[in-house]
Amino acid sequence: MTTVRSGGILIVGTPEIALWPLGDLGLWLIIEEGRRAMKAKSTPTLQVRDLVRRRALVERTAVVFLGPVPTLDVLARGAAVVEPSGRVWPLVEIVDRKEDQPGGRSVAARTVLGIRAAVRKGGQVFVFVSRRGYAPAFRCVRCRELRRCIECGSGPDRGDTCRRCGAALGPCRKCGGRRFEPLGAGIGRVAEELVRQLGKEYVGPIGSGKQVLVGSERDLPYVPETVLSVGVDADSLLMAPNYRAEEDAVRLLARVALTVAAGRGRRCLIQSAQPEHRALAALRSGHPREYLAGLGAEREHDHLPPSGEMLAIEVTGDPTICATDIAELETDSIQVHGPETGGGRTRWFIQGPSLHEARVLLRRMVQRWRDAGVKVRIDADPIDL
Ligand SMILES: [Zn+2]
Ligand SMILES: [Zn+2]
Repeated sequence: MTTVRSGGILIVGTPEIALWPLGDLGLWLIIEEGRRAMKAKSTPTLQVRDLVRRRALVERTAVVFLGPVPTLDVLARGAAVVEPSGRVWPLVEIVDRKEDQPGGRSVAARTVLGIRAAVRKGGQVFVFVSRRGYAPAFRCVRCRELRRCIECGSGPDRGDTCRRCGAALGPCRKCGGRRFEPLGAGIGRVAEELVRQLGKEYVGPIGSGKQVLVGSERDLPYVPETVLSVGVDADSLLMAPNYRAEEDAVRLLARVALTVAAGRGRRCLIQSAQPEHRALAALRSGHPREYLAGLGAEREHDHLPPSGEMLAIEVTGDPTICATDIAELETDSIQVHGPETGGGRTRWFIQGPSLHEARVLLRRMVQRWRDAGVKVRIDADPIDL
């Protein structure tokens, strides 16, 4: 444990602080380094974790990463884990969405009962919804099966092709049904639903002082202590179209659970249509360690970060200029995936145990492509794939 020495200075800053000259630093404390904000969006796509680690090594400063679920990247770099002796986060219960009748509701009947009971006792409740622009999970209206891509397992948005791999989605794979309904919604719609159920005097956004607060990831630091928190749509997080989806889901939902103050009968309700999912088992257990070990072994097997390397090439302009070059990067150990098009861009991603050679080749290629007039963005270790 380290305390701020009397006469010392505590500097609090956004990720950019990792690049500032800071004089004689005693300790870096990085809160929730797995958050998206901890990585720059444009080239060079720097990650706070790596920047600070390298800097701390040179400047001989200690680094502490703080959060309930360490990232596999931090663990792979040999960080020592300090855990509380009891649960890392309070009690978690899973609400099985399959019990719900179809009808397009985001908050299950059982969850509403829990919220109502907490409100009656004067308790504070937080309802967590996925951030804006995140596609909710969809299920078949007829058989209640989750809709997912047969090729890659990702959860689709409203379209008819997979947003990760481009495969056609087709009808429900279990019953052939063609009608689907979302299991989650944005802050506005979830709040409306709760107002209808509980009355508008009880429901509001973060900062409204209401008993039932509805918010998303960016609201998490401002949530007061609760007696009950709710994760509305765990499936949208678990089936997000990238290889880190599960890990990120557990981290985020553990933070939702941590808004609950210790005490009898207090808990976090997480809604899911796949209650047997291992990520939810980990959340129920209150400890991330075993779960992360299993996930790490899987990434190692698949040569995915932190065990392998991955990079994305994103091209705006005529993709045919790059296509042949990129295909040539493929070797026995390096796989090239793509191209995928969307949003006016074409993307490839490259994956293998080591991408050193590919990087060397790529440097020359990128120069040539840029000279030919296309815009190129290289993302080392993309979080959206
Ligand atoms: Zn897919
Ligand atoms: Zn079905």
